[in-house]
Amino acid sequence: VKNISILPTSVFFGEEAYQQLHIFYHKRYLSNIFILVDSNTREHCLPYLHGRVTFLRKAKIVEVPYGEKEKNIQNCIKIWKEFEKQNSDRKSLLINLGGGVVSDMGGFSASVFKRGISFLNIPTTLLSMVDASIGGKTGIDFNGIKNEIGLFKEAELVLIDLNYLKTLGKRELKSGMAEIFKYGLVADSSFWKEINILSNNLIGRSFIERSIFLKTRMVRIDPKEKFGSRKILNFGHTIGHAIETFFIDRHSPISHGEAIAFGIICESWISWKINCLTEKQYDEISKNISNTYPIKEIDQKTTETLLSFMRNDKKNEVGKICFSLLRTIGDCYYDKKVGDVIIQESLEQLKKFIKNN
Ligand code: NAD
Repeated sequence: VKNISILPTSVFFGEEAYQQLHIFYHKRYLSNIFILVDSNTREHCLPYLHGRVTFLRKAKIVEVPYGEKEKNIQNCIKIWKEFEKQNSDRKSLLINLGGGVVSDMGGFSASVFKRGISFLNIPTTLLSMVDASIGGKTGIDFNGIKNEIGLFKEAELVLIDLNYLKTLGKRELKSGMAEIFKYGLVADSSFWKEINILSNNLIGRSFIERSIFLKTRMVRIDPKEKFGSRKILNFGHTIGHAIETFFIDRHSPISHGEAIAFGIICESWISWKINCLTEKQYDEISKNISNTYPIKEIDQKTTETLLSFMRNDKKNEVGKICFSLLRTIGDCYYDKKVGDVIIQESLEQLKKFIKNN
């Protein structure tokens, strides 16, 4: 993997990340510091952070339960109440120590409290290192819809330390890999090739840097998803988010990345059917993704529910479900309106991958 030197100026790795945190602390006159954790990152990540950064031992810890269904307004209220209890003001700082749930919800809570206090992200999952902690999207799920409430606000610093990944389960590591696969598919065919050769070992720093580089390149052109190019990053997410939402309330919720894997297969199939991607390319993508992730069958009733979720997607226009689709591997376009029938068919064809798992 090529060395990438063009990372956002706010993103730092390893030792340098901790140095930057010290500089930040000494440059700012902070009134108080909060660390947002979920129950898992409190156990697995907070002791390590306290060991690395002694001044953070005095910080107030705000804990929320883990999991996507906790990315909600009740937990924001809990965070705001903690801010108030400590007489927080505009010079308060929130550090989000966790995966995408913590950084999305913490970023949102900090950005609207007293019209905005500073926040930093210390991502502790692969997915949040390569995706959720970067690019300024913050928010919560509301009324059964993912990321329904939120705003764009970049973390002032993103501090990446691969040591946090040591306690992360295999399933969560794979979840992050789905977004790495996506970057290759939408923006860099040679990256896609490299990923597939090394697919069990994507957690090295160079893969993470390359992913951040690709994401940042698109976000810089279109930070608020207004002109469109940022929408490319939503490839796999129209169907993927609907599937993730559907499984949130089940006994066995699936990870964000597993849902995106379903989305990538279905949306690659749609890309092929509307004559962009070749059948060979679709086969290559679906084979690699279905070998990495468990694919479940989606029955007719579930398909109806998924379509109703997709109708609520923020990317839609004049009531039509809009997709970002592949032109070829490494090139993606957006705002393609797709009819219900072809979406249903794309979900039905998932069946053929079930035998393989
Ligand atoms: P997550 O935050 O729920 O973390 C996954 C699980 O791993 C949780 O149970 C968590 O407690 C646990 N965990 C986290 N770090 C750990 C560690 N070091 N050791 C042990 N356990 C640990 O989920 P995620 O996959 O990181 O992120 C998914 C969320 O991110 C979704 O809500 C998604 O919508 C959001 N997201 C946001 C963006 C964005 O641009 N803002 C992009 C992609 C995804």
